Amino acid sequence: MKAKISEEQLNKYSKNMDNNISAKDRIIAWPRMGRIDIPLKALLVSLGAKVIIPPANSNEALELGVKNSIEGICVPYKLNLANYIMALNQGANTLMMFQAPGSCRLGNYTKMAQKTLKRMGYEFDMVIFDMYQSKMKQTLQAFWHVTHCLNPFKYYKGFSLGFNKFFAVDEAQKQLFKIRPREINKGDAEKCYNKWLKIIDETNSIWKAKSLVKKIKKDFKNIPIDDKKFVPKVFLLGEFFVVLDPYINHDIEKILGDMGIEVERQIWFGDWLEGVLKPSFLNKKESHRARCVKYAKDYMKRPIGGECIETIGDTVYAAKNGIDGVIHLLPFSCMPEIVSQNILNKVSKNEEIPVLSLVLDEQTGKAGYITRIEAFIDLIKRRRIKINEINKDKKEIINV
Ligand code: SF4
Repeated sequence: MKAKISEEQLNKYSKNMDNNISAKDRIIAWPRMGRIDIPLKALLVSLGAKVIIPPANSNEALELGVKNSIEGICVPYKLNLANYIMALNQGANTLMMFQAPGSCRLGNYTKMAQKTLKRMGYEFDMVIFDMYQSKMKQTLQAFWHVTHCLNPFKYYKGFSLGFNKFFAVDEAQKQLFKIRPREINKGDAEKCYNKWLKIIDETNSIWKAKSLVKKIKKDFKNIPIDDKKFVPKVFLLGEFFVVLDPYINHDIEKILGDMGIEVERQIWFGDWLEGVLKPSFLNKKESHRARCVKYAKDYMKRPIGGECIETIGDTVYAAKNGIDGVIHLLPFSCMPEIVSQNILNKVSKNEEIPVLSLVLDEQTGKAGYITRIEAFIDLIKRRRIKINEINKDKKEIINV
């Protein structure tokens, strides 16, 4: 396989890093983002690592991040920095970060965070997963660097558990978003979701991890629903972090679900993993990114960083597939999403699909945010009723 690396290469890689902590003394932490903690913990613990999971994002974390960041930097950086500070205070000495170069600031995050944390007096090793450099090879090197694990079975177990848990968390969320607006007994879907998160987290056998997705689908089918209910469908898309993190997006999927809206989120860990780590010749179906590039072609010729092309491509796709509306989430001052926000005006007009862009940062007030969502949902509901009436009239004319 392309990713085969010798021990000598791995050692050379380790020497190039700021590495004076032995593998057995390492306590590893990474930033919070949605439920990335569940699969990543399974992967690292299977390789023999000790991990610390900082508390979920909160007002306290945001305040800490804002206080220690330069003004104008995007909110994902502020929260990531706060996660690092909290983890270091809890005893972590190894910080992991995914980074990608390009026109987005994510390429500079690690250097900035490293400098800030050193200036604050913390001692640590920062391990960077540079996903756009060499993908699987880079990933294996980074895991070797933090664990010094040479046992192939442990890698097999770690990656199997990690990957299957990523897909299982995605599936549990997909089911939650579908069932919540239709459930007869309020709270059933949420209860089922929380139950499965716990089971996913506690699963420690490869065989059981592989069967999680199937079992989750089956279990959600047992929830009583009103399948005749009028439930409009909305695509949720935008910048990766703010779409995935329920703290910063004020748990928008719950807000929408409680308003009787089915959410189809367009950003999933599973898609991202397949796109980044899986060799392209193994991908049988069209990837999410490939679909977006295809659908965005009338508005954008090439990706410009972040999720810009995905935002455009997904919106065109939504319009062509009968989706009722699109909610676009973007952090304040995020360059790629500011570009897409401007293009979306034209896409919305040309493709005839309602789009609501919501800017998120530490200044975003929940009350105003919900009011804007309510007004948008009102609009798409009325629009759907009108479309259904027109279609009904057309049918009647044909039948006459
Ligand atoms: S996509 Fe935007 S918010 Fe995300 S890291 Fe890049 S600049 Fe920051």
